[in-house]
Amino acid sequence: MTEALSLGERLNSVRVGIDTAARASDRSPDDISLIVVTKFHPEQLVRDLFALGVRDVGENRHQEAAEKSAACSDLSLRWHFIGQLQSNKARSALEYADVIHSVDRPSLVTALNRAWTETEPGRAPVDCFIQLNLTENPDRGGVSPANLESLTEMVSLSPALHLLGLMAVAPLDKDPAQAFEIVARESQRLREWVPEARFISTGMSHDYPEAIAAGATHLRIGSAITGNRPLRG
Ligand SMILES: *Cc1c(COP(=O)(O)O)cnc(C)c1O
Repeated sequence: MTEALSLGERLNSVRVGIDTAARASDRSPDDISLIVVTKFHPEQLVRDLFALGVRDVGENRHQEAAEKSAACSDLSLRWHFIGQLQSNKARSALEYADVIHSVDRPSLVTALNRAWTETEPGRAPVDCFIQLNLTENPDRGGVSPANLESLTEMVSLSPALHLLGLMAVAPLDKDPAQAFEIVARESQRLREWVPEARFISTGMSHDYPEAIAAGATHLRIGSAITGNRPLRG
């Protein structure tokens, strides 16, 4: 009981934080979606969050996402996949993911298209974000700004994917506000090519107020709500 209560309190304080940051930027809190990142936490935490009104959850490891979403299939939740996705997991990801935040390379788009054509005919395309890499390190995941235009074109022509916008993780060694300015600028470019792809998935436990100030519409918040993550096993 005490645990559920403190989970509720942490959730509430993040919701208040979102409200405050939105109002400070003259934005409506209703335009900002909170995705609670449940990675490394057990199924029960997802159930506790559901009981507290959470409907959007995020996972970053494929195996864990597949298992947890199956275990919670009785709850009507939207599952957001936010981690790096291997092309050979594309088919299975289409089975559980309502939104994929980490489309970042042509080979993954090709794999998602192939998997999608093999699933039931008439299936709606899956909502996705293109992930932008804000570091110089290609291992971090995400497409470089230089390759954003060609990847956007490929995604927008893809029958499997419905492009919502841009996703990014602020690098740890940079000022998040500056990082989110870059995302805002790249999002502007993206909308010149695909006007309806106007959403921005940025903002984690430690930088969501800055993300909101720079236009984030989807926040991916874990530890500020769930408490410390159990050590990965
Ligand atoms: C873990 C994770 C988050 C949430 O991080 P917190 O610092 O716990 O809020 C957000 N986005 C991605 C891609 C993650 O892997």
